Amino acid sequence: MKYNIEKINEIGKLLAEVVEEALKIEGGEAALIGDVEMALRESMLKIGNSALQCFLENADGEVKAEIECTCGGRLKYQRRRKATIWSVFDKVVYQRAYYAGCTCGQGCAPVDQCYGIEPGKVTAGLARLLALIGVNHAFDEGRKSLKEFLLFEVSENTVRAETQKMGELQRQADADLVKATQSENCLQKREQSQALVPDVLYGSIDAAKVRVEPRDEKEKAVENREKWRDLKVGCWYEGEIVPKSQHSARQKDKAQREGVVLRAKNQKYFCDIEKAGQFGKLFWATGCAVGADRARVLVFICDGAVWIWNLIVHYYQNAIQIVDWYHAADRLKRIADEAFATTDERLAWREKVTEDLWQGRVELVIEACQTLAKKSELARQSLAYYGDNIERMRYAQFRAAGYFIGSGIIESGCKQIVTHRLKISGAQWNLDGAILTAKARAAWLSDSWQKLVTARSLLPLTA
Ligand SMILES: [Zn+2]
Repeated sequence: MKYNIEKINEIGKLLAEVVEEALKIEGGEAALIGDVEMALRESMLKIGNSALQCFLENADGEVKAEIECTCGGRLKYQRRRKATIWSVFDKVVYQRAYYAGCTCGQGCAPVDQCYGIEPGKVTAGLARLLALIGVNHAFDEGRKSLKEFLLFEVSENTVRAETQKMGELQRQADADLVKATQSENCLQKREQSQALVPDVLYGSIDAAKVRVEPRDEKEKAVENREKWRDLKVGCWYEGEIVPKSQHSARQKDKAQREGVVLRAKNQKYFCDIEKAGQFGKLFWATGCAVGADRARVLVFICDGAVWIWNLIVHYYQNAIQIVDWYHAADRLKRIADEAFATTDERLAWREKVTEDLWQGRVELVIEACQTLAKKSELARQSLAYYGDNIERMRYAQFRAAGYFIGSGIIESGCKQIVTHRLKISGAQWNLDGAILTAKARAAWLSDSWQKLVTARSLLPLTA
């Protein structure tokens, strides 16, 4: 936006005088720069508050005797009526023309309608900040940080409500997407569109436990225990090669071992607390949105839970399936620990078998487990694990093709959504609160936050 710089400089000069005066009155010791900054910020908050009030009071223009009601009837001018909003400049009270007297019983303030204001509520400008804090911090913790930035108090409940409103918008967007991708018509239309389809696209799914409190006393009595629910999380992403000059110490090691180092980009997370079948619909719908069904190569990397592979096979039969390398390799370590008494024996077995796995010689890994089956229960159980996943563990082939072989992206997603937000101290959830906060956070992590901010600013008009 372009502003009249001369006028702004004029205001700046005035403000400097105001602050200088105030600091003088405060008196005593010379003010330090931090004091000056704080005095400026406090004054600017007051200026913003008064400017927003003026702006809205000027916005009425000429008052008319009558206007048209949304129902088609007529509304008569009543008087200028007071309204209150909670904005980024704190509570603002303003007066605007108010019309009423239609047969439908509704009244109207054109200024509120024009700017998408809900009197008595938080404005879209403040809402986006509250929600941003709420997806990244426990609500009460976030409230304290916010006060430092805004210079006025907002309640924990307001932070929670605005965060979950963003989650509600995401839930609505998810539901709309699921509905749209169930319709032949919509899929056909998309088929004809020229939208960019990724060459190689990755997908991963995982789940993490969230503790959900009973909703009320009644529910508590029926289920007198804590309830841990699975938050299912999925991610679509692409890969790119990390240039040598940007390698971290760890990546340098990796580059020596594996040749190239990949990193993920364009991560799109989706999540829900739902049964696998219902979550599958969201999986398919979000996949359509990123062109999963049209990518040249589609690769899934997962830790091996059966319900996950079932969903993948159901929706994307021809995709490449990879068991996360770290899960498959870590199991060998645990087998060695269980089967051998000495560190030397453990290391020797593990090194050899891990190399076989790395080279994709899964049959040799199975043989090695077979020979330990009598000594180790885990080795015996692992016969099925490696046996059922032979084709998903051809790591040499996958590496040669340049694919990721680790599911680090989805594990990081679970960590960021669940460990770093839903499970942090001070967090307590009912079912809806957990789902909405998770969905809002997933949007934040996916760079689709701006869509929610835009949708939030349209809220009163669509309500
Ligand atoms: Zn009406």
